[in-house]
Amino acid sequence: MSGRYDAIIIGGGHNGLTNAAYLARAGRKVLVLERRHVLGGAAVTEEIFPGFKYSVCSYVVSLLRPEVIRDLDLPRHGLEILPLDGTFTPMPDGDYLWRMDDHARALREIRRHSPVDAEAYEEFGRAMTQLCRFVKPILGMTPPDPTSPGARDLLRMLFLGRRFRALSSEDKHNQIQLMTMSAADFLDQWFETDVLKGTMSASGIIGTFLGVRSPGTAYVLLHHYMGEIDGSFRAWGLSRGGTGGISEAIAGAAREAGAEIRTRAGVARILVSGGRARGVVLENGDEIPGDVVSSSVDPRLTFLKFVGEEHLPAEFVEQVRRYKFRGSSGKVNMALDALPDFRSLPGPGPHLRGAISISPSVEYMERAYDDAKYGRFSRRPYVDMVIPSLTDPSVAPPGKHVLSCFVQYAPYHLKEGTWDEQREAFGDTVVDTIAEHAPNIRDIILHRQVVTPLDLEREFGLTEGNIFQGELTLEQLFFLRPVPGWARYRTPLRRLYMCGSATHPGGGIMAANGRLAALEILKDGKRGAA
Ligand SMILES: Cc1cc2nc3c(=O)[nH]c(=O)nc-3n(C[C@H](O)[C@H](O)[C@H](O)COP(=O)(O)OP(=O)(O)OC[C@H]3O[C@@H](n4cnc5c(N)ncnc54)[C@H](O)[C@@H]3O)c2cc1C
Repeated sequence: MSGRYDAIIIGGGHNGLTNAAYLARAGRKVLVLERRHVLGGAAVTEEIFPGFKYSVCSYVVSLLRPEVIRDLDLPRHGLEILPLDGTFTPMPDGDYLWRMDDHARALREIRRHSPVDAEAYEEFGRAMTQLCRFVKPILGMTPPDPTSPGARDLLRMLFLGRRFRALSSEDKHNQIQLMTMSAADFLDQWFETDVLKGTMSASGIIGTFLGVRSPGTAYVLLHHYMGEIDGSFRAWGLSRGGTGGISEAIAGAAREAGAEIRTRAGVARILVSGGRARGVVLENGDEIPGDVVSSSVDPRLTFLKFVGEEHLPAEFVEQVRRYKFRGSSGKVNMALDALPDFRSLPGPGPHLRGAISISPSVEYMERAYDDAKYGRFSRRPYVDMVIPSLTDPSVAPPGKHVLSCFVQYAPYHLKEGTWDEQREAFGDTVVDTIAEHAPNIRDIILHRQVVTPLDLEREFGLTEGNIFQGELTLEQLFFLRPVPGWARYRTPLRRLYMCGSATHPGGGIMAANGRLAALEILKDGKRGAA
């Protein structure tokens, strides 16, 4: 297929593909251009070591929008989400905290640490569910802009205002606290068990350059609390075949609807004239004209690199420059000969089938951040581990395993040396950290892939290695994402749209951004926006 396209999508991550699928289903002639050899962006599976399939970046899924699963009929295109059961936190004193998804068992386990916390945990769960119910619809809608409201914004604000009013006074207080407090302070109000607070607070700092005691992190806690797999509220799961399975399923739906998808097709520039986008120029110099250009990469790449500031209002350029990335995470993926054996709960067992979190206390988490503040990776980092091969044997040869370790903090800007020099030392630190709890880890590693923030930038196009294409902090969320005044997938240039994680509702494998952007593009198409 060639010739003029109705829409050219930059980037074949899951949002770019979702955007393409919705546009193609609406009858548009669509082209997706992906720079890498493989689709998926940060939701990708790669066989880095023969026989072992790594979810190189993202590794668990929870927020994938049910309407996208339904509309694109993703299970028919191969999507299968397998449940991930609970979170196991080994402790240095030889004890552990193992919160299972089975609520009654989780309560029994927490009661073992503190009967008071077991009671509070029930109440906390109820309160968070209420707040998730309030916030969740916002994930599925174009955010209203209170600073320059049109008729549709007013309706949406009214809808949200009504929902807020319907919350109990206690829920209202909780909501306001979540928006302003630190994850640790918020949790301090509910619980006394340090390991419980340490582990729960971890969700508040994922993908941000903030510590568990930094104000604002409580909200991120909620962001990660929301989730839906086949309607079961707040469950995390694994995609069969790795997270690339999600992107491949979406690509399947897009192709079926007629979208053309090219890999190894990096975009170098967006063609602009007369204040509107008119197509793209590839890195190999090919020019491809298009009626609409929809970019799933971040605003710095889109506007400062592909468009050029000379085509944009100065104030907008300034806002784009201020948009914060500050990558703080890395990833270590390992091929294992056997299972790690935890000192606090020896042998194989169901505790290895969920997340395994190295987050033994609030102080541990905050100290990990202290290192990052001063420009080095954490000497003892927070590590979130998953062994997907226990749930999905297709990702490793029989008897072998894949271990995925998400690590924080790995600040993009190092005070000394470069990430290329520090890569292996960082990998060693992660292995040493795990070895304090599972000493056999060193003997069972067949292969190790260390992904630094610099690798995320160079290989995946994630500026400054931010895993969400920009920090998920309140000043960069909702109607402020990516920048104030431009949160509705549109840009100062006509026919140029944004559709990736740098737009509302932010990062994570949600596919909401791609879908909402497509709906806005189609709306403008109907209106005949010039
Ligand atoms: C290490 C890590 C761990 C994570 N863990 C989780 C997790 O467990 N669960 C979760 O829900 N989320 C997780 N995330 C976040 C989640 O993966 C991302 O928010 C999401 O995948 C982003 O999707 P996207 O399509 O918006 O953007 P991306 O996936 O960033 O896609 C953008 C695409 O554009 C391509 N591109 C870049 N430049 C060009 C160019 N010049 N021309 C053409 N194409 C280009 C890129 O190669 C990429 O494929 C993680 C992310 C990382 C990096």
